[in-house]
Amino acid sequence: MHGSNSRASDRFDPQDFDRVLSSMCTRTHPEAAAMARRFMDDSPALPEVYETVVKLERRAVDLLGEVVGLDEPHGYVTTGGTEANIQAMRTARALGDTEAPNAVGSEALHFGFVKAADMLDVQLRLAPTDEDNRVDLTEVRRLADEDTVLVVGVAGTTEYGIVEPIPELGEIAASVDAQFHVDAAYGGFFLPATDHDWQFGHAPVDTMTIDPHKAGQAAIPAGGFLARDVEMLDALAVDTPYLERTSEATLTTTRSGAGPASTYAALEALWPDGYEAAYERERANAEWLADAFRERGYDVVDPELTIVAADVPNDVFERLSEKGWRILRTGEDELRVVCMPHVTREMLESFVADLDAVREETTGGAAA
Ligand SMILES: *Cc1c(COP(=O)(O)O)cnc(C)c1O
Repeated sequence: MHGSNSRASDRFDPQDFDRVLSSMCTRTHPEAAAMARRFMDDSPALPEVYETVVKLERRAVDLLGEVVGLDEPHGYVTTGGTEANIQAMRTARALGDTEAPNAVGSEALHFGFVKAADMLDVQLRLAPTDEDNRVDLTEVRRLADEDTVLVVGVAGTTEYGIVEPIPELGEIAASVDAQFHVDAAYGGFFLPATDHDWQFGHAPVDTMTIDPHKAGQAAIPAGGFLARDVEMLDALAVDTPYLERTSEATLTTTRSGAGPASTYAALEALWPDGYEAAYERERANAEWLADAFRERGYDVVDPELTIVAADVPNDVFERLSEKGWRILRTGEDELRVVCMPHVTREMLESFVADLDAVREETTGGAAA
């Protein structure tokens, strides 16, 4: 018997979000959390058994369609952006007419595409980005050829939140008759409140990734895979040998109902006004922080959406980590802050106060 006053699992606490500055995930919206708990045992993989969660998923996909400008969306709630991107590449390979398929995008592509290309035996061709972290379109054009089955544009890159030129990339895809996929895993819930061209109504987009479990404020695991044509989903379907199921387009079989149910609840609660308000707040916070870094003499990559990167010296970075700030660096070693719903102005003020204290103690102060 265990002691009467504690269970072993009580000794473990989840990460407190109060100092999390470099994560694209955030606190789940309360209504989405409640729905995740209610439906976590229901698997949409068995529609004959778990009818309601399948209906919820359909509603969630329809609402996601509104977010991405697609009237009759086809798709499903994936485990995340990685699965959605794998599925986009699978569709493209299945529908492409070549023995030696390749996919073209920029160096800013999420590393999950490397896994997808590896599993699917598709050659991944990445065009370089310039000193402003922007894709070189001439290079994308050069890399695309008759064996290109997929061109990917990122609407909000993981490192800097940059929105790649989606209409131009779509034209390149069309010029080689390739599928055009937009990865809006991070940006998808911010972009409707901006002037960027990024979605199905703005360019000849075939498939899209959008992650409810990031700025959508749904529970993990919830990604979105959306397609313009049903053929693209059909291309993923395999015949299943069991029961009365005839085909299955998803990548995993057993799936948690928490993702679809919480995606539905988050969208009902927040789309569109709640997401717009959240974006305005997070964007203002990102600009405030960029100014704070700049005033202290650091080089800053200006936020295009809600990500700020600053060239903070290593010793300063280390001391901030020691103070409990959960911060990560970019590939260029910049300190990268992702302003998500849990990142409040107060939190950033407290972070900048710690930054000032640390600068007093370290040679990092010399940067100013
Ligand atoms: C986060 C992210 C992914 C991966 O999504 P997961 O949900 O972590 O699998 C893919 N692409 C972009 C642009 C991302 O920001």
